[in-house]
Amino acid sequence: MSGTRVEPPEVKYTQIFINNEFVNSISGKTFSTINPSNGEKICDVQEGDKADIDVAVKAAREAFKLGSTWRTMDASGRGLLLYKLADLIERDADYLARLETLDSGKPYKDATIDMVIATIFCRYFAGYADKIHGKTIPIDGPFFCYTRHEPVGVCGLIVPWNFPFAIFISKLAMALCCGCTCVAKPAEQTPLTTIYGATLIKEAGFPPGVVNIVPGYGPTAGAAISEHMNVDKVSFTGSTEVGRIIKAASAMSNLKRVTLELGGKSPNIIFADVDMDFAVENAHQALFGNMGQVCCAGSRTFVQEDIYDEFVKKSVERAKKRVIGDPYVGSTESGPQVLLIC
Ligand code: NAD
Repeated sequence: MSGTRVEPPEVKYTQIFINNEFVNSISGKTFSTINPSNGEKICDVQEGDKADIDVAVKAAREAFKLGSTWRTMDASGRGLLLYKLADLIERDADYLARLETLDSGKPYKDATIDMVIATIFCRYFAGYADKIHGKTIPIDGPFFCYTRHEPVGVCGLIVPWNFPFAIFISKLAMALCCGCTCVAKPAEQTPLTTIYGATLIKEAGFPPGVVNIVPGYGPTAGAAISEHMNVDKVSFTGSTEVGRIIKAASAMSNLKRVTLELGGKSPNIIFADVDMDFAVENAHQALFGNMGQVCCAGSRTFVQEDIYDEFVKKSVERAKKRVIGDPYVGSTESGPQVLLIC
């Protein structure tokens, strides 16, 4: 691994994105995003709340109307826009990775992998756009029976801080390929790559209102999405506790569809006939990768009794060798934890 250091980037965009335009928050409020490597403020970001979510949802609803550019676009056209977005992410992957490192503290080399993953998600769903179809169902009688898949409508995308850009793009590409419109809220700890993504969405050629991005806090902006009567679906990744709040908000508002991706405990199971070094390295990465901030982190390891002592000894040796430090240095394996604002 190289010990070369790359430079932190300049932050270019910090505003709310609605109808393909950057705007300030209605309240005039901003919040600081912090560099977790040194605890210093990176910049102030426009703080969206309920009022801004209302405007964003209106824009998304308008873009979703029957007869709109988006609704009349061929499914293959949606696919082409997503392919274009993937190309733009690939073009700016280095900048995006350096920005992600600044905001989240994840090692630059891991952030570059996140950008590759975002590109793959985008291309996967680009290809899916014109392959969404229903069924013809043989039924008794002189009837023609079929199913037809329609887009759900306005989707709220509530994103966590551990893979900010990759999770944003995965949610977004899925919704767009189906013909939905979106209001996305990045985590308050890590809004910068998502806001930068807005420029790529506009450059790719998505019509105004199809994608709207409102940075802000969970209990204000996030809650406004999950309680909104005009949001048809929420896709959420984050804590179990907030997942419960979102499901309850759906029940108490318009019974919007909700998809929850919450925390997990993901064991590795290691048998005696394993290649020991391979198992130690993989169990190590499963636990320590992304500073352990992974919903499916291998936070439990079950080891067959015969090799238990040797496995533990080698795992401890490996953990002691883990390189912790400046996330912009190529040899760093762990940067700081994401800075949670409590
Ligand atoms: P969180 O649930 O507090 O935050 C995630 C997102 O939800 C953020 O955008 C946040 O602003 C928003 N949010 C917070 N309160 C909200 C509310 N009342 N209504 C609507 N949105 C709201 O997550 P966290 O505290 O940052 O992380 C805690 C745990 O979540 C982690 O330890 C991990 O177990 C889990 N997590 C899981 C994943 C995953 O991929 N499954 C990802 C990140 C975190």
